[in-house]
Amino acid sequence: MAGGGKGGKRGINTQLAHSGNDPHAYFGWVNPPVVHGSTVLFPDAATMKATQVRNADATSRSRVQPYTYATYGSPTTDALCEAVNALEGSAGTILVPSGLAAVTVPLLAFLSAGDHVLIVDTVYYPTRRFADTMLARMGVEVEYYLPEIGADIATLFRDNTKVVFMEAPGSNTFEIQDVPAMTAAAKERGIVTMIDNTWATPLFFKPLDHGVDISIHAATKYPGGHSDVIMGMVSANAATWGQLYNTQVALGTCGAPDDAYLVLRGLRTMGIRLERHQKTTLALARWLEDMAKEPGSIVGDVLYPALESFPGHDLWKRDFCGACGIFSFVIKDGTEGQAHAFLDALELFGLGYSWGGYESLVTHVYLKDRTVSARDHGGEVIRLQIGLEDEIDLRADIERGLAAAKAAG
Ligand SMILES: *Cc1c(COP(=O)(O)O)cnc(C)c1O
Repeated sequence: MAGGGKGGKRGINTQLAHSGNDPHAYFGWVNPPVVHGSTVLFPDAATMKATQVRNADATSRSRVQPYTYATYGSPTTDALCEAVNALEGSAGTILVPSGLAAVTVPLLAFLSAGDHVLIVDTVYYPTRRFADTMLARMGVEVEYYLPEIGADIATLFRDNTKVVFMEAPGSNTFEIQDVPAMTAAAKERGIVTMIDNTWATPLFFKPLDHGVDISIHAATKYPGGHSDVIMGMVSANAATWGQLYNTQVALGTCGAPDDAYLVLRGLRTMGIRLERHQKTTLALARWLEDMAKEPGSIVGDVLYPALESFPGHDLWKRDFCGACGIFSFVIKDGTEGQAHAFLDALELFGLGYSWGGYESLVTHVYLKDRTVSARDHGGEVIRLQIGLEDEIDLRADIERGLAAAKAAG
């Protein structure tokens, strides 16, 4: 498979344009074929026997015949996995049916009854739901930690701690974590580290370069980029790849070819889309921040790591190479009625979950599930996903929302 190995020194957009499949491996077609199928035929009984995977390490793919059955991968899923390996610097990548499965499959791969897992308290809510229900039921001790903990994560380690789960920035409130300090502490104790890297994408943060073992993505967001696909991706370093892949094979949670094709297509333009998302978002975040300084303004804190005023800004600047198009702001001393008035007055921003697509979205953020990191943000928190529309139109829409929120106060 071409692309991955030799793309390392080239610019990121060049890598995105050329990694993954090798056109000349399929009659020169620029894009890989979408292989629909369950069954692969073998030329003879000896080949069939030689490629059998039975209770064995499934990572060793036969050189005799690379494809054996669709749950083990196809040319379409391989093209995406190779492209992602090149971006993440990973030993291997699995595709799963959703971003949430990209969280649950690696946790299942490395946790057993009696183990202890440390999860950041500002985690994506469905990750918490999985931990508090499924992991707890399986006899795993779940403990939440503060996102600002850094190297002090070591004070929470127990003899049975097996996994440290990070998400940076935190969901909805965007707290940055000191990833290198945390992975260094975990490594000393042989604890596996995982990060939900959906916000940054491998373009703005490369977890494996900072000592993380496993990088998790909702491909649904920027990699897909068009709100038309649900898929998850998990990339592992050499030390953890075998256990991750064998768990995927054991569970049967494989990715589908049409989805893999859409995500690979999305990757081709992810660099230029992110550039635009970042530019518009930073301009709007700064504009809101300026507005917050005006006397009587209903705009409170603006939560976006790229702003100098943001508490985690220095760490973000040290470790990340960019910020994506999602951030939050506070309606100062606002009520739920004012938050709803803001949402209902918007014409361009759609009221919807998810993000990373071309269109702008808004949600009224719920933070009551937090435990150790629960705090008062001084009003109602509104999350904006900034799409690829023109900044001037988005600005006018936000102004419309703010006027309605003010009137509802
Ligand atoms: C959206 C999201 C997920 C889950 O992705 P789905 O494809 O919607 O299941 C996981 N983590 C984060 C941080 C997300 O934003």
